[in-house]
Amino acid sequence: MTDRIIPIVHATRMLPAGTAVVSGGTLTDTLGRHLHDLRISVTDRCNFRCTYCMPREVFGNDYPFLKRTELLSFEEITRLARIFKSQGVKKLRLTGGEPLLRKNLERLIEMLAPLDLDLTLTTNGSLLAAKARSLRDAGLNRVTVSLDSLDETTFRRMNDADFSVTKVLEGIDAAAAAGFSNIKVNMVVQRGVNDDGVVTMARHFKGSGHIVRFIEFMDVGSTNGWRMDDVLPSAEVISRINAEMPLVSLDPQYEGEVAERWGYRDGSGEIGVISSVTQAFCGSCTRLRLSTEGMLYTCLFADSGYDLRALARSGADDAAIAGAIAGIWRIRGDRYSEIRTADTTRRGKVEMSYIGG
Ligand code: SAM
Ligand code: SF4
Ligand code: SF4
Repeated sequence: MTDRIIPIVHATRMLPAGTAVVSGGTLTDTLGRHLHDLRISVTDRCNFRCTYCMPREVFGNDYPFLKRTELLSFEEITRLARIFKSQGVKKLRLTGGEPLLRKNLERLIEMLAPLDLDLTLTTNGSLLAAKARSLRDAGLNRVTVSLDSLDETTFRRMNDADFSVTKVLEGIDAAAAAGFSNIKVNMVVQRGVNDDGVVTMARHFKGSGHIVRFIEFMDVGSTNGWRMDDVLPSAEVISRINAEMPLVSLDPQYEGEVAERWGYRDGSGEIGVISSVTQAFCGSCTRLRLSTEGMLYTCLFADSGYDLRALARSGADDAAIAGAIAGIWRIRGDRYSEIRTADTTRRGKVEMSYIGG
């Protein structure tokens, strides 16, 4: 990297006019997609510096992370989640940054649990061994753990924070012991970096009840130096695993499922591939993302968002916020992965650690 890259944060779009909320029916965007999932980033901080997400030369000691007063409070998050539910959201994923770094996260989960949404969390696993039980007791339904390699050297090189594989595996075991089932294990695959560990990863979790999902390295944000050559297409992931452990294609479980499912022919479990680069799934993208400070993004690759925190703090009532959300969804036409070109990959976009992966 030559020039220092300043990540884009909080570029704001005007809220659309119109307050026609949904009651009973379903909200559709300009491409006929329903609103179904909300990802909420609860912190923009992380104790890892994954080279593909928060490269240390950009996210260094002097990086201006958000201040406490800028974050949505638990009360604000819970209120917004309730309003999103009224507009059709059924699934809530807490993410970040590293969500387990947010103080008293269990309290937030307790506050969200009565909403009766499918409540999930994505974590790098470093603090999971200590927290799995309390997260479960607080009402978390499911957990996804990121793990890019089982090889200590490769893993440490990728997280760039000297965290060990063992610690993450202990976190996964603790989550299973606490009663989480169908635990997902996310591996971002980068050609020439960790792709030699794809088959090892699949073999390690085969028969464990956990589901490894191989994710194509994406051009999120503008700091990770993404190149198409670094992407290992999911088709190749499947072919490498299938050559050693035969696979069969499985049907999706619900509309908008991002992972393509494959089962081991011997019945010993399943894996998934998320092919956002080589096989875009924008046509069924039902997700919104709420950043740590309350900016709402309609696409992972957005360059600007809608300031829901300002709206909520301006005294707007629930109906007005619901109307804004409905208006934002109705005019949504994002399909970045379908129209990705060499030019778009170089454009400024918000960072994954800020928007919530
Ligand atoms: N810190 C938590 C973690 O790593 O699980 C949650 C946030 S992280 C941004 C969410 C997911 O996004 C992780 O599974 C991570 O590997 C993935 N991710 C981050 N940058 C990515 C990229 N450039 N391409 C593909 N996946 C990425
Ligand atoms: Fe942190 Fe997750 Fe990004 Fe890695 S992928 S730097 S763990 S937020
Ligand atoms: Fe959804 Fe945007 Fe990803 Fe397409 S590129 S699947 S619209 S988040």
